[in-house]
Amino acid sequence: MANLIFVVRDDESTVYAAVSELLLESAIWTKAKNKNTPKFNLMLGERNGLKFGTLGHEPGLLQAVNYYRGNGLICRKVQLTKTLRSCSCHSHEQARSPLEREPSDTEEHEHEIDTHEQNERKTQEHSEHEKLLHTNLDGVELDEQYVCNRNWYPMTFVIHSRMEEKSDTSKPLGIKEKLMMAHRQREDEREEFIRVHKEMKENGKGSLWIGKSSAGAKGKGLFVSDNPEELLSFIDAQSFLYVIQKYIERPLLLLPGSRKFDIRCWVLLDHTYTIHLFKEGVLRTSSDSYNFEDVTDTVSHITNHCIQEEHSENFGKYEEGNEMFYEEFNRFLCKHHKTSLESSILPQIRRITKHCLLTCKENLDTHDLPYHSFQLFGFDFILDDTLRVWLMEVNGAPACAKKLLPKLANGIISIAIQPIFNADEQNTQCKDFEIL
Ligand code: ADP
Repeated sequence: MANLIFVVRDDESTVYAAVSELLLESAIWTKAKNKNTPKFNLMLGERNGLKFGTLGHEPGLLQAVNYYRGNGLICRKVQLTKTLRSCSCHSHEQARSPLEREPSDTEEHEHEIDTHEQNERKTQEHSEHEKLLHTNLDGVELDEQYVCNRNWYPMTFVIHSRMEEKSDTSKPLGIKEKLMMAHRQREDEREEFIRVHKEMKENGKGSLWIGKSSAGAKGKGLFVSDNPEELLSFIDAQSFLYVIQKYIERPLLLLPGSRKFDIRCWVLLDHTYTIHLFKEGVLRTSSDSYNFEDVTDTVSHITNHCIQEEHSENFGKYEEGNEMFYEEFNRFLCKHHKTSLESSILPQIRRITKHCLLTCKENLDTHDLPYHSFQLFGFDFILDDTLRVWLMEVNGAPACAKKLLPKLANGIISIAIQPIFNADEQNTQCKDFEIL
């Protein structure tokens, strides 16, 4: 096969540094000395500000890039919320709890029931279905525009910091600024948040919420509180766009130490928009016991590595680097919850991941563009104490646990890169990934 050239335009990604090393080991690939050259086949591009418009214009050159244009639709928290809302009303899938059973034989034979009865029942089912869609798990009724995936995405509201408005008032507003301000005011959902917060608190459905910067990462800019005014004042003192999300108050806790954790899964979307889930995942664990009484006890509530490493004296005490892998977690589930990862957790993860990526397919798909895209995503989940899986966020440029990096990098090459440039390998299977 002809010599292929790749450019690396992100020096910070450990995942793509590993991919780059593996490519160099093969006889086919050469790394371009000049990262600005337009003559490349593969771009390992920058995570922000990648110039998609410049791709695919070199005559006779097949080009691919490791990001999908528009991935912010799921990788920014405000956009993820809106993306998931946009499909809530059409999706039958989301109306059913991930833990609910499949239809029984009797239900499958509905056609045998007399038509009149059937229609009656369908009308009733339809209105119950509608009601479910507009009522979240905590029994709060929501206006249609706020309805999200009630089963696996915690209720979330978009909040515009008032700081954004203040910076505008120093000079007279032009038409563009006025339109921006009107847009922010229209989009700001603080009133609905205050109403829902009050209703849930009064109904004993929990009062903790978490404020998160829309583009935030690594546990920065988070604020947990049961006081809506406090949350809103915190956000109004920041200069970013925020979401306020229902806090999962009763997370599943690890033993020993009754500690909170989240689960990171890696998902590879190839150039044909096939979704590949990496079979390994990692639990990022807290070093300290979950402290429900004190939400300012950051280490017990926020499980990001950076927070744990910086603020806990116990970092690494229970698990090396506060990382637990699937095998050990499965043993914990079997011993303490009489279940397994495969039977109760992974089916939910598969369903959520697939739903998210298929929801934005129309807007991400590159099949009519003059270049190919693929992308590795990091899906972050949290489990509650009923073993329900909740999606926290989707990361568009995830790092990878050191132990898993070689397999992940290998998979990226054999699933996402090779098949683009080598037509014989269109159906590459990789044992470390499963197709969703
Ligand atoms: P970041 O982008 O900063 O990593 P995340 O949304 O992933 O933000 O949240 C960071 C951490 O905060 C999570 O790993 C989890 O420990 C905690 N967290 C975030 N959202 C919630 C929530 N809705 N309920 C409970 N804990 C949460």
